[in-house]
Amino acid sequence: MGILIEDAHVLTMDGISGSTPVVRSIRIEGDRIAEIGAGLIPADGDTVIDGCDRLVVPGLVNAHTHSWETLFKGRYDNLPLELWLAMSYPILGDSRVAPELVRLRSTLFAIESLEAGVTTIVDDVIENPNQEWAQLAAVFDAYDEVGIRANISGHIITRPFVDTMPFLADLLDPAMVRHLRSLPALTDDEYLDFCRRAFGTLHGRGDGRLRFMPAPSAPQRCSPELIAGATRLAQANDAECHIHVLETKTQMITGPRHYGGTLVEYLHKIGALTANTTLAHGIWLTESDIELVADSHTSIAHNPVSNLKLGSGIAPWRLLHDAGIDVALGTDGCSSSDSPRMLDVVKTAALLHKVTDPDFHRWPRVDEVLTAATIGGARSAVLGDAIGTIEVGKQADLVLFDLDTMAFTPRQKLDHQLVYSENGSSIDTVLVAGRVVVAGGEVTTVDARAARAELNRLLPEIIAWQDDLDRRNAVLTDAISATYFRAIATPGPVNRFAGDERAWLA
Ligand SMILES: [Zn+2]
Repeated sequence: MGILIEDAHVLTMDGISGSTPVVRSIRIEGDRIAEIGAGLIPADGDTVIDGCDRLVVPGLVNAHTHSWETLFKGRYDNLPLELWLAMSYPILGDSRVAPELVRLRSTLFAIESLEAGVTTIVDDVIENPNQEWAQLAAVFDAYDEVGIRANISGHIITRPFVDTMPFLADLLDPAMVRHLRSLPALTDDEYLDFCRRAFGTLHGRGDGRLRFMPAPSAPQRCSPELIAGATRLAQANDAECHIHVLETKTQMITGPRHYGGTLVEYLHKIGALTANTTLAHGIWLTESDIELVADSHTSIAHNPVSNLKLGSGIAPWRLLHDAGIDVALGTDGCSSSDSPRMLDVVKTAALLHKVTDPDFHRWPRVDEVLTAATIGGARSAVLGDAIGTIEVGKQADLVLFDLDTMAFTPRQKLDHQLVYSENGSSIDTVLVAGRVVVAGGEVTTVDARAARAELNRLLPEIIAWQDDLDRRNAVLTDAISATYFRAIATPGPVNRFAGDERAWLA
């Protein structure tokens, strides 16, 4: 007893037809794609889905996001990363979230992702001040129940916030600097033991759909021993190691000042660039950084919507592709881009880089952005053999778009319309591992309405908590703002802002 999708328009994203639509039938048995061909005959007991008005694509992979921010959706605007971080990931005050709320938050995030056609999320789960076991287990419980596929971290920051960027310690009151340096953090061994426990217990839950992922926050936020240890653990478990790198200009100037070279050179030196590693953002890379990333088969998760919202800069899309780097796409969290809708990211990636180079031969192509959103993301998640294309033997993670909608009318070029016309509202059915998890555009596995109602019931308490954290952390904003502007005024090897940097260099 399987599922037969008959005569649908299919973007296989494989090495044969790629993103060119072809008419095919797809038979699913258990969690896998069993057969692909023209005019397949249903077997006894097969559920048949008429594909004549359907576009079938591999489930989208959100290669970089943070479910923590689900509770902060829509809360902040016009803050650069360094200031936004101090609000969305509060440094002062009690920002712990009870495991029950972590589970509800994760459930809502998974629902919104699936209904947007995202079947795999790389969820770099950040908890303040650091993740407790029950909080991590709650994320696995939620995703297991909703039926999404995920790499789930394990995010860690061990260095005091004040020491993660230049200038800041000199701009804050000495008593505040002492206080920030006295805040508790896990030791390297405690974190690596936490990872070993997660690999030994939670990793592989949900018939292998849910995987653990070490995530040292960034080279400037953890010790080299921790980053190297986390990388080795990821390799030993055939898992992803996820790390933020060179998202902002402040981070670019941090490398030479604190580590004697660029942050990518530093990661290379400590053995953290590997085929299991994904660098989130990778905006302010030099050309030699790009070579190091390419030579080590490290992936980059590009987050153009978040990068625009936080004013971080524009990643060098064409240079990354020219170097042969595996590029994935991510939404980032719901406080920096406010939605897990990957199709927004796909369209933005296709558009943004056209204004960085007048040579239109070098602009992003539809097949490139769809590759990044599917198999590129799968590779970065260390799942390239399991998902990301529609091929026999792969997991049946599929999205079925209704073609009888305005986005696909008239049917000119379905792949182009998927990128430029569709926003997810045509999504009818989503399967993860052969199981229908969205039907008629709505999640079938959990009661989404009840989950939303529960969050709304808790909302007054959550907003009071967030208001209190905002007030407490506001004491840091003047110094962080001054740090940001000093970094902006400091010359560096590359300019990834859209404007002429002579206007703001000192
Ligand atoms: Zn991030």
